[in-house]
Amino acid sequence: MIIDLMKYQEKGSYTTITGEYLPEDIDYFQREIAIDGPFDVKVDVYADEDEFVFTGKLKGSYKLACTRCLEKFSYSVETDMEFIIEKKEIDDVAHVDLSDKLKENLILTIPSKAVCSPDCEGICSQCGQNLNEYSCDCEKDDIDPRLEKLGELYNQE
Ligand SMILES: [Zn+2]
Ligand SMILES: [Zn+2]
Repeated sequence: MIIDLMKYQEKGSYTTITGEYLPEDIDYFQREIAIDGPFDVKVDVYADEDEFVFTGKLKGSYKLACTRCLEKFSYSVETDMEFIIEKKEIDDVAHVDLSDKLKENLILTIPSKAVCSPDCEGICSQCGQNLNEYSCDCEKDDIDPRLEKLGELYNQE
């Protein structure tokens, strides 16, 4: 996302910019993060002596693999962001590229764990069946109901 700050270079200048940022898919620690579409960007830009100060919001969604069932699902994010770009780093103030900063902020939103739904059943640890689709016949580690009864008797002393 490229913005024009030509008119806002002087210290104390202030403006709000909205736009769209379309990142490429992200390879994050071996996890492939597929971007669903452009992210909405809204930033307030304030010109200080030596730098531009940005505060704003980034909003969009990307595909993540569910930590329980491993299926891909769309994950929506809306994040506050704050960053600065030093004036001396900018070659052309009419074309200031925010993409790197936006990408950094986008990466910060990637959760270490994510589930497709709070009641995702996950996959069977024995046969690998996705239990959201149908349940398998594997024996579960649950306690046998008969043993449970026995336990109750013991506790009744
Ligand atoms: Zn899931
Ligand atoms: Zn199974």
